[in-house]
Amino acid sequence: MTAQIIDGKAIAQSLRAEVAAAVARRTASGKPRPTLATVLVGDRPDSAAYVSSKGKACLELGMGSISEQFPVDASQTQIEQLVTKLNADPRVSGILVQLPMPAHINEEQVLSLINIEKDVDGLSPNNIGRLAQKGRQPLFIPCTPYGCIYLLKQTGVKIEGANAVVLGRSNIVGLPVALLLINNNATVTVCHSRTRDLPDVVRQADILIAAIGRTEMVRGDWIKPGAAVIDVGINSVPDATKKSGHRLVGDVKFDEAREVAGCITPVPGGVGPMTIAMLMKNTLHAAEIQNP
Ligand code: NDP
Repeated sequence: MTAQIIDGKAIAQSLRAEVAAAVARRTASGKPRPTLATVLVGDRPDSAAYVSSKGKACLELGMGSISEQFPVDASQTQIEQLVTKLNADPRVSGILVQLPMPAHINEEQVLSLINIEKDVDGLSPNNIGRLAQKGRQPLFIPCTPYGCIYLLKQTGVKIEGANAVVLGRSNIVGLPVALLLINNNATVTVCHSRTRDLPDVVRQADILIAAIGRTEMVRGDWIKPGAAVIDVGINSVPDATKKSGHRLVGDVKFDEAREVAGCITPVPGGVGPMTIAMLMKNTLHAAEIQNP
């Protein structure tokens, strides 16, 4: 069996078109333009690239974009003062603090300062707490996990009652995606670096979410025939045939897994484009909460 390839690029594009149409309707009716403020601390090229694509996406969808930058030696107080200022700024619908921040910054303290109505990345302790508790709803769902669930739903994968295995337990991907799967009535196993017999655990998965950042670690013979495989991993490997000298691959060995899985996301072109699309959806949602 050859798996259905889940086209994250196309699914993200159609979601972006929906968001752009809703933004146009809002601004035509005289409501303020949804606006995202990004906060970048330091000079990591990957973080700078992510922040720049987020700003670009806002402009493409008719939203406003405010970009704030600090050098790597910025102080905790400077960053906290900026977040407080953005919280109070009525032009700003959503605030995204790009992670990771430099080691001397207390990320949790910064994230917990973000007004819950502007926490479009969904990573403040308040939002995550609501996601984790039965009967409570977060205002915003973290973007990459939201993208994973959106892809499963758009592909028609039945989550309720499925055995879902999540590889990774990070605050940004593994943990929130596991919580979302539980909320969608899957039976969830979360694996990490101390998990024993990983291939055997993965073989039980009707739905596999791989978010470990380990180049092509998940092999084809780990995959249950017909499983839905969402590969979140982004790993760079040398490739002399590319102008850049490298290419991106996932945590799953795609060519093997596609022969066994029912459906699978490619890397790139799977989860990656969804993360920004979900951020745009969340920023629109923030504007709707603040100015119904
Ligand atoms: P982290 O490094 O924060 O977490 C990695 C997790 O994987 C940890 O829980 C770790 O376990 C676990 N892990 C590491 N090695 C193994 C192993 N050999 N066996 C089992 N578990 C292991 O990574 P992130 O969650 O931030 O990111 C994961 C991947 O997703 C990365 O490749 C990242 O680039 C990508 N990513 C992609 C995004 C997108 O938009 N597509 C967005 C965000 C991330 P332990 O907790 O025990 O250390």
